[in-house]
Amino acid sequence: MKTYRIACIPGDGIGKEVIPAGQEVMEALAAAQTAFRFEFSSYDWGGDYYRQHGRMMPDDGLDAIRDAHAILFGSAGDPDIPDHITLWGLRLKICQGFDQYANVRPTRILPGIDAPLKRCGPKDLDWIIVRENSEGEYAGVGGRAHQGHPIEVATDLSVMTRAGVERVMRYAFRLAQSRPRRQLTVITKSNAQRHAMVMWDEIAVQISKEFPDVTWDKELVDAATARMVNRPASLDTIVATNLHADILSDLAAALAGSLGIAPTGNIDPEGRYPSMFEPIHGSAFDIMGKGLANPIGTFWSIVMLLENLGERRAAGQLMKAIEKATANSALHTGDLGGSATTRQVTDAVCAYVAESSETLSRVA
Ligand code: NAD
Ligand code: MN
Repeated sequence: MKTYRIACIPGDGIGKEVIPAGQEVMEALAAAQTAFRFEFSSYDWGGDYYRQHGRMMPDDGLDAIRDAHAILFGSAGDPDIPDHITLWGLRLKICQGFDQYANVRPTRILPGIDAPLKRCGPKDLDWIIVRENSEGEYAGVGGRAHQGHPIEVATDLSVMTRAGVERVMRYAFRLAQSRPRRQLTVITKSNAQRHAMVMWDEIAVQISKEFPDVTWDKELVDAATARMVNRPASLDTIVATNLHADILSDLAAALAGSLGIAPTGNIDPEGRYPSMFEPIHGSAFDIMGKGLANPIGTFWSIVMLLENLGERRAAGQLMKAIEKATANSALHTGDLGGSATTRQVTDAVCAYVAESSETLSRVA
């Protein structure tokens, strides 16, 4: 039997609620078959760790999780610590330290979810956004001078490298090629940003030649927001820079019904380092500690984790259990207009996983 080592980092806020819920679901999946098991290690990094130690995670923290098969992450963000410290001190330290350069974000309208677009049915919205996750606007290059004086200056420099753009473009084309529609939209802003974004466009043309069977087009990021609302079915796979995709994927999550459902994977496509899976939502200060967080975003992220490990059957089994839960409005949490608790949704998904494996073993 295979053993997968999973590093769990709940982090802050509702991360501390949804990650343990995710572990329960993973235990249910492991109990349901004999091909693999999980070995969890948990790390208490985040805001509380910062208050004790003056940093979000130990300086050599990456070494502790380097040998994991995958990382399950909650949220970095504390009401009393500035966001740039929590984000850079934990989440981005892992993403950049492990060169997880492709951030992959699927969006679909799951069964039973009342999505806000009135002319958009579940079949019209099936996207996967690839976000450049290692450089660009979030390269961290810049600084401040004359702090506090009238002549103060501050810069955030967007850094794009040919190697960095080529690899994420190639990843996106390959992902588009693996999906039924074989269609990619490259998001750009090369009308206004005439250096890096022009190189971005040129590299898209170059890489597209490696994928003659993928149909692709280009869209300016501002126009892309309108297209997502007005013509959702015209999109399939989407690739964008770090900042652009950050914004577009929150819009995507909202159009699919709730931020509480949306999953993501920070992938090192070369497998040199563990990849990290997390719900896209943050710490949700307004509901933290109350047991009301929607755990579905975490569960769907675990589906992505399982696919990344090559456990397709278990991934499919969990996705079915998730869809069975969303289809039942009694299992909707507050973000979906319901009153279900994290506990109730978790228990239901664990039960569906157990049920489906009984069915599978009867068929076998
Ligand atoms: P947020 O995602 O925490 O919350 C936005 C809104 O959505 C809130 O009303 C919240 O209650 C609701 N919501 C989010 N997830 C939910 C869930 N699972 N179930 C039910 N409702 C849910 O975004 P924010 O308010 O912009 O950020 C709060 C903190 O989280 C900040 O410190 C921010 O930096 C951090 N953050 C971290 C990450 C991350 O680590 N990946 C992502 C986003 C925000
Ligand atoms: Mn974001």
